[in-house]
Amino acid sequence: MQFSDHRLADHPFRPARWTGGTITPEIIVLHDTASRLDKGSAAAFLLDNEAKVSVHFVLEIDGTITQQVPINRRANHAGRSHYHGRDHCNGFSIGIEIVNPGRMTRTGDKARAWYGESFDIGEYGIEEITTPEHGAGLWMPYAEAQIKALLELLQALSLACDTLTDIVPHWYISPGRKVDTNPLFPLEHIKALVLGRDNPAEAQAEEISDAVPDANELIQVDAPGDTLNLRRWPSFNPNVIAQIPDQAILPVLRKGTFAGRDWLQVLYGGQSGWVVARYAAPITFDTGHQT
Ligand SMILES: [Zn+2]
Repeated sequence: MQFSDHRLADHPFRPARWTGGTITPEIIVLHDTASRLDKGSAAAFLLDNEAKVSVHFVLEIDGTITQQVPINRRANHAGRSHYHGRDHCNGFSIGIEIVNPGRMTRTGDKARAWYGESFDIGEYGIEEITTPEHGAGLWMPYAEAQIKALLELLQALSLACDTLTDIVPHWYISPGRKVDTNPLFPLEHIKALVLGRDNPAEAQAEEISDAVPDANELIQVDAPGDTLNLRRWPSFNPNVIAQIPDQAILPVLRKGTFAGRDWLQVLYGGQSGWVVARYAAPITFDTGHQT
């Protein structure tokens, strides 16, 4: 895939009515349309409406993608929002709307969307799930074709745009106000695949930390009754890749201070990641001499 003029060449481009000024995208915000599933209906609304909303990409049930705003221009998709101390995420994000009915309620053996459409619960694999972020509801799983197309789009974007550092659902930046994407969205799986080893935040962390020579230091996890999060890079983004049991002993690869906190890069379960240093006790070796 190639970008030219900030348009993704593989997909049709239709310019949205509400396209704003130039931005430098740093995060990707994922949304549900909470709309009818018919092809083109959500895309048509987002293209031109009186609600002043717009988005960079719309992803249909069958995996078809339409681009409606160039990736270096502002779209009105996030509304009131907050990301790691910064407000107004539209000013530094790319929005992707995934066609999905959103939260539904039960009526017999059907799930009913807010706009009135009903779906057979068994036929659509709809699940009743409650989470702290979403509250209670019935939710439709995303189509396999959507997840596949989304992965390709995210990979193309992260290659085309080296300022991107994170992928977040709308609920993450507008907590309590928004519940998209729904609880069935495979967020961690997608983030691991896309951000993977080439994540700029991870590369930057390597640059500004110090290697432990010969990896000859060990630590023991000190988190009584709890686990220690292994993170892809040293920050509290939703970037947890594993949970390390208390008392586990791990080799230390690098040490660094990020945002005033000491972190260690360790090896656990065959992968490297970062842990907060204060939950790890250094292990000192007996050099072999009896004293
Ligand atoms: Zn949204």
